[in-house]
Amino acid sequence: MIFPIAATINMPAAIANRKGGKVIVTEAFCSNGHSLMSKVRIDGEPGIHFIYASQGGKKKTDVVISPVLGECMKKILKGAALKQDDIVRILCPTCFTELPVLFDCECGAPIYLFYLDRRLRHSYGQSFCSRIGCTKASRLRFSQDVLDDFINSHGF
Ligand SMILES: [Zn+2]
Ligand SMILES: [Zn+2]
Repeated sequence: MIFPIAATINMPAAIANRKGGKVIVTEAFCSNGHSLMSKVRIDGEPGIHFIYASQGGKKKTDVVISPVLGECMKKILKGAALKQDDIVRILCPTCFTELPVLFDCECGAPIYLFYLDRRLRHSYGQSFCSRIGCTKASRLRFSQDVLDDFINSHGF
């Protein structure tokens, strides 16, 4: 897979709102183009809905995370409690397809990506770590930021 490393992120106004200095994701898609937006509000805005599945797939938890960039609030709608340090597989709540993995976090868990635009362009992706309690878990970042960190820390 080729990522647009040199590209800068240019967010169309329809995709994310800026309110009082905060960037809020208003549209999110799985790799099959299903909307991940929830009616459940977090930080006052409609959150983003995922299924967190255990590695064996036995336990599934419906989770809604904050759509505000940099925030890490989340709500569990139903399902198993999440244990600190567990690594989950992150699925679309509509088709149960696993979201794409960008690369591994410093903590060793995969960093997942979802799309901000229906055309599924990576430069409009958002990424977060799949380890519960990792400082990067459930905290949205632009995939470009994460790529920059990765490139810096690997000396490209
Ligand atoms: Zn889907
Ligand atoms: Zn991590």
